Amino acid sequence: MTNLTSKTALITGSTSGIGLGIARGLAAAGANVVLNGLGDGDEIERQRAELEAGPGGDVIYHGADMTRPDEIEDLVRTAEARFGAVDILVNNAGIQLVSPIDEFPPERWDAIIAINLNSAFHTTRVALPAMKAAGWGRIINIASAHGLVASPYKSAYVSAKHGIVGMTKTVALEVAEANITCNAICPGYVLTPLVEKQIPDTAKARGLTDEQVKRDVLLAAQWTKKFVSVEQLAGVALFLCSDAAENITGVALPVDGGWTAA
Ligand code: NAD
Repeated sequence: MTNLTSKTALITGSTSGIGLGIARGLAAAGANVVLNGLGDGDEIERQRAELEAGPGGDVIYHGADMTRPDEIEDLVRTAEARFGAVDILVNNAGIQLVSPIDEFPPERWDAIIAINLNSAFHTTRVALPAMKAAGWGRIINIASAHGLVASPYKSAYVSAKHGIVGMTKTVALEVAEANITCNAICPGYVLTPLVEKQIPDTAKARGLTDEQVKRDVLLAAQWTKKFVSVEQLAGVALFLCSDAAENITGVALPVDGGWTAA
């Protein structure tokens, strides 16, 4: 089992869903954890304390808004001041809007590109110097099957996710000799709040019921007919942090029940 004791993991958007699941997985392997994300302060403190009580190291929370480069820089600097370097950077924060492109609100387009793509540029550019100095690093970008293929009515999301796959490959090449890997995980559908929220919108856009959306839209392309779980994604992230994955870099790894194989 991969031992991350004395390593520090910063996971953006880790107050919910996949990010919280990855934070739990990395903490269970011994890492210090920097949580980030929106939400109720008491609930976030409860999650932080619960993680810190587990087998990992220290756990701190920083509420940087991923649309704000100054706050993102402060997030990374705060992690470095506390722990020395961000050894494992998981760019996970993301939002979604389902809408035909000719009705897509421009401010929502900008927010999706800012949170799902630009924030990963800012965390990466700020965290890399200390990661290089530490001589070891893992950057894991949570892209999506939508980083590899499109679906209608998700123009901003698909654009941001294709963008982050491109950034993943580029960063991988730039840091290849620095003992740092950079990979993207491309999940299919996971039943998190992000997906649950888009079910009614997709139903409206396609004239379907919520149950039809789950069966005929979400799982239609997932050949296993199973949603991906956050625990499975945490396991994949942990593998990418292991010594066995030292030569895996620049990869966009589908975890999608066969969706992008078809
Ligand atoms: P989620 O809604 O459960 O969690 C999103 C996280 O991002 C939350 O912690 C939220 O607070 C945070 N966040 C949103 N806006 C923010 C902002 N402005 N600043 C800081 N934090 C912000 O969603 P999820 O399903 O866990 O998604 C996590 C990532 O996984 C996203 O990048 C998403 O695109 C990707 N993904 C999800 C699925 C899926 O089916 N759920 C599939 C593929 C990829």
